Amino acid sequence: MKLVRTILLYGALAVSIFFLWDNVLRPPCSRVVEYDIGVFDERFGISREFLITYLQSAEIPWEEQSETELFRYVPGSDFKVNLIWSEDQERLFKGNSLEENLDITQTSIDTIQGRYESAVTRYERAAREYETKLMQYERDVTYWNSKGGAPEEQYSVLENQANTLENKASEISSLLAQVNKLADDNNKYVENYNSGVAEYNDLFNPGHEFDAGNTDGTEINIYTYDGNQELQTLLIHEFGHVLGIDHVDDEKSVMYYLLSDQNKKGKLSTYDIAALQLSCKL
Ligand SMILES: [Zn+2]
Repeated sequence: MKLVRTILLYGALAVSIFFLWDNVLRPPCSRVVEYDIGVFDERFGISREFLITYLQSAEIPWEEQSETELFRYVPGSDFKVNLIWSEDQERLFKGNSLEENLDITQTSIDTIQGRYESAVTRYERAAREYETKLMQYERDVTYWNSKGGAPEEQYSVLENQANTLENKASEISSLLAQVNKLADDNNKYVENYNSGVAEYNDLFNPGHEFDAGNTDGTEINIYTYDGNQELQTLLIHEFGHVLGIDHVDDEKSVMYYLLSDQNKKGKLSTYDIAALQLSCKL
């Protein structure tokens, strides 16, 4: 019994020494990391093939720099790349659709405001015309009254004028109703827009940082990304960690701890390259 136990211990020791050599002592770039897709959540809306293509192209910047093959997609490999659904991704998708709605609402507001302005112009023009005609009519009536009344012919002219003025007045009131309706619509859309903005800001309240992904050297977990460009940079970044590279303190670098517009293009900076050379002892 004892013997068996000793043998087992030796066995375990041998295994752990090998493990230490394989994972720690051997420089990260001296072997090809074979990877496979592990968890794959459909809710991200991409296909497995799409992810594989992106992974394969995320290998390129590192492999070109080191002039050696570092990563290889091999189905069944132990090293998994996991696409894991997160609250943050849900938040991001929600934010994107809110943004789309805001754009549509903005377009409606622009249209309504354009229509409002031309309705106001029509209303003002009609009101000015009406006033001029009304004044003319009142002058005529005063004139004929001072003469003790209008002759028959003139009387019917005045009566026609009075009718035209009445029609004009009802036209003006319908133009005014149109103006008010458009103002109402505009206010409703603006209110809608503002509450959308508030909801959006709430989703991305200042200081909220998304955990995009991570790796412990035995797997890569992807939790959230906004669009293909970000996915690409994120994969290059995590591959960098797998090569033993830490974060670099430069916003434009792929290995910067944050994804920003500056490093989204996924191009290695001089800092990234220096970090690779150090880690891989190139
Ligand atoms: Zn990182």
